[in-house]
Amino acid sequence: MTEMIIAGHSIKPGERKRVMIETAPLYDFTSTGIPVEVICGKKDGPVLFVSAAIHGDEINGVDIIKRLLKHKRLKHIHGTLIAIPIVNVFGFNTKTRYLPDRRDLNRCFPGNDDGSMASQLADIFMKEIVSKATHGIDLHTGAIHRSNLPQIRGCFDDPETKRLAEAFGVPVMIHSDLRDGSLREAAKNQKMPMLLFEGGEALRFSETVTRIGVRGIINVMEVIGMLPCEEGVCEFSDSFHAHDSHWLRAPYSGILQVKKRLGDRVRKDQVLGIISDPFGNHRYEIKAKFDGIIIGMSMIPLFNKGDAVFHIATFEDAKLVEDNIEQYQDALLSHADTFVT
Ligand SMILES: [Zn+2]
Repeated sequence: MTEMIIAGHSIKPGERKRVMIETAPLYDFTSTGIPVEVICGKKDGPVLFVSAAIHGDEINGVDIIKRLLKHKRLKHIHGTLIAIPIVNVFGFNTKTRYLPDRRDLNRCFPGNDDGSMASQLADIFMKEIVSKATHGIDLHTGAIHRSNLPQIRGCFDDPETKRLAEAFGVPVMIHSDLRDGSLREAAKNQKMPMLLFEGGEALRFSETVTRIGVRGIINVMEVIGMLPCEEGVCEFSDSFHAHDSHWLRAPYSGILQVKKRLGDRVRKDQVLGIISDPFGNHRYEIKAKFDGIIIGMSMIPLFNKGDAVFHIATFEDAKLVEDNIEQYQDALLSHADTFVT
C-alpha cells in the first residue's frame, strides 16, 4: 500500500486527513479552496472518489458525504476513499449552480490550466482527484425548483459501470449518454467507471435522499472490495433500467394543480395535472403519453407554455417499479439506527 498525495499533502496507509486544494482566490484576495477528506486504508484496494456540489446549489450531496464520513464502517477500509463534499466552492457560497464566470462546471471538463476560471477548476479536479482514483461517484440533485426521484445515471454500455449502478441499489437506473464537458465524460475517457446519483431538489435536504445516497455508496464500496459484505454476502435491492425518459411540457401558460407526485406510476392518457387561469377557468390537461414513473418534476406551480413539468421514465413493468420504490423508501426510513444524523 502506498501513500496518497493530494495537493502536495501525503496521506499514508492508516491515516485520515483533511486537506485543501487551493483554487483562485476571491477578488478581495481572500484565499479559497476545495476541502477534501482522505481516508487511506491500511490494506490495498480501489481508490474511490465521492464528490458533490459540482453544481453549487445541489447541496443534498454535501449532506450525504457528511453522513458517510461519520459511518462507523469506514474505520477499516481497503484502499482509499477521497471525499469532496463541495467541488464548486464559489457556487456553494453564493447558493448558485454556476461559477462566478457564469459557466457550468459540469460542462468544462477535463479543463485546461490556462483556460477560463471554470476550465481551470475542472483541470485542478482532474489532476488532484480523478487521475488518482479508480472509481467515482458524483452526487447531484434536480436543478433549482425541480425535484428528482433518487436515481442512478450512467453509461451502462460499460459492464463495470452497470455492475456498480446495480449495486448502488436504487430502484431507478437511467442510461444516459455523456454530455460534452461533463465529469462523467472525462472519467470515461480515463476508462474509469463512474456513477452519477441524482436525488432531491437544489438548496434542500431530504432525509430519504440522504439515506439512499449513503446506503448506495456503502453498497458500491462493498462490491468493489473496499468493505466486506455484511455476513459475507453482498445483497442489494432490485434496480430497474428505464427504457427511456421524456419531459411533459405545459400545453399553455398558467397555474398548475398537480394530480400526481414523484415516484407515482402514470398510465397512458392519465391526467397528471391541470393548468388553468387564476380563476380556475380555461383548463388545460397534462396527460401522460406512455405508462411510466414520475422521476422528476417542477416544484413551482407557475408555468409558461412549453415549460417542463413532469419527467417520466418508461419501464417494462412500471407497477413493479412503483411497488419497489415504496418498499425501498419505507425500509430505509424504518432503519434509523443505521444512519448518523
Ligand atoms: Zn447537477
